[in-house]
Amino acid sequence: MALEKYHKKRKFDKTPEPKGNRRGVIYDARTGTGRFVVQEHHASHLHYDFRLELPEDWESGSIVLKSWAVPKGVPTEKEIKHLAIQTEDHPVEYISFKGIIPEGNYGAGTVKIWDKGKFKNFKLQILNFKVKMLEFTLVGKKLKGDFVMVKTGYAKGSWLMFKK
Ligand code: MN
Repeated sequence: MALEKYHKKRKFDKTPEPKGNRRGVIYDARTGTGRFVVQEHHASHLHYDFRLELPEDWESGSIVLKSWAVPKGVPTEKEIKHLAIQTEDHPVEYISFKGIIPEGNYGAGTVKIWDKGKFKNFKLQILNFKVKMLEFTLVGKKLKGDFVMVKTGYAKGSWLMFKK
């Protein structure tokens, strides 16, 4: 079910993170358009959370933020591949979340918005009923251009992302 993992990991009386009620979705499957965010997350290890507004089952289902932790950040230069580890779907309201997740909570630390904007031309490549590759154009302040994300065979939830 949508957001079950997200809700299980958090106590909403202890963290300022949104519980989510699916407001403000702009995702449009017909044109492959939606919103993205990159959050700079100073947790136990600094990483960047990359999120795309998409259906939970990629092609169907409620709209969520498909999410990846990118240790080195989303590459800004072409052809440099960065590891992206898929994490639990987040509610769409998380797109504007910034603040402090208090000590003792999941992901404790400071969250800042590093970049946000829209994506367009979203395309999905499916092989044997499994998503293998994503392609999209980012229109942000720092991130602009065509990006590719490819699932690796190495570990579950492991992807590589690069700018074309
Ligand atoms: Mn994070």
